[in-house]
Amino acid sequence: MTAGSTAAPARADHGRLPRLEMRAGRPVVAVDVGGTLVKSALVDADGEVRAVCSEPTALGSAGALLDQLARAVAEAAAASAGHGPTGPSAVGVHVPGLVDDTRGVVLLAENLGLRDVPLREELSARTGLPVSLGNDARGAGFAEFRMGAARGARTAVVISIGTGIGAAVVVDGHLHDGDGFGCELGHMPMLLPGRDGPARCACGGASCLEQWASAGGVARNYARATGLPLGGAREVFEAAALGDPTAARVVGDGVDALALAVAQLATVLAPEVVVIAGGLSRAGDALFVPLRERVDQMLTFHRRPRVEPARFGDGAGVIASALRADELLEHRLEAAAPGGADGGTW
Ligand SMILES: [Zn+2]
Repeated sequence: MTAGSTAAPARADHGRLPRLEMRAGRPVVAVDVGGTLVKSALVDADGEVRAVCSEPTALGSAGALLDQLARAVAEAAAASAGHGPTGPSAVGVHVPGLVDDTRGVVLLAENLGLRDVPLREELSARTGLPVSLGNDARGAGFAEFRMGAARGARTAVVISIGTGIGAAVVVDGHLHDGDGFGCELGHMPMLLPGRDGPARCACGGASCLEQWASAGGVARNYARATGLPLGGAREVFEAAALGDPTAARVVGDGVDALALAVAQLATVLAPEVVVIAGGLSRAGDALFVPLRERVDQMLTFHRRPRVEPARFGDGAGVIASALRADELLEHRLEAAAPGGADGGTW
């Protein structure tokens, strides 16, 4: 559905997403904005994900997207009738791109055509609800940290590998955002000795991690080396398993670059766990066995992180948005409580 159409999108209760751990005990609206689809859902006070909806992203202007998001929030709020005594108390939104979580500003989201948009404030004004806004990969990492493969860790890194590479870094329980510029792991320079990057990255970098190790990078590097494009990274992994030496080299380069990134993160952050999320994490042992080996070879005295696949797949964005909205409410409740941040205990 485009921004201009008026038909209500189809909604259905969704059975596949797990029940979420809601700390504030209030219903929230979760919105996951992608380059092609906007997914939204109501999450009730008990953490049940209801009224999941997905529709084509309204592209073209910030105003069109804001209209769409406000309408999705209103529809999810309408769906809350019958699922508890109150409507939603907050909205969580994740978008792909550079996002300053603290200020609630989309600095740059090229796929969505957004630059310097104060999306949190604008959506809050349109819906009358507090809004939590974040970058999608950081959100997916937060979901893994709260309820997934990084649960229980104090310091963790979640690397989301798909067309590109995004990441979330949690240090002592705090999600780091670097004013929107942090955790851009896909553009970590990988100047491997004697091995220039396979091509210039879209960001202009000569040897960015995602040129080597993203699903898109693996597929492109194989096509470049052989002149025979395969369907995608999965097919390159399959060709490597069947003994294709070029595929094995391309996959090996990707694993080497990823291992180097993990080793550097281990040096700086000493995460207890590094979670690999996104499409490439479905490669299974073909990725994780050599990756763990290479990381182990690169480290010496360091604390070795566990390297684990993510728990959440396609639903990670909606889960993340609900959990971030819940976190926002939790912080507000803490601040309002006697002795809380506004309680003046000092
Ligand atoms: Zn780059």
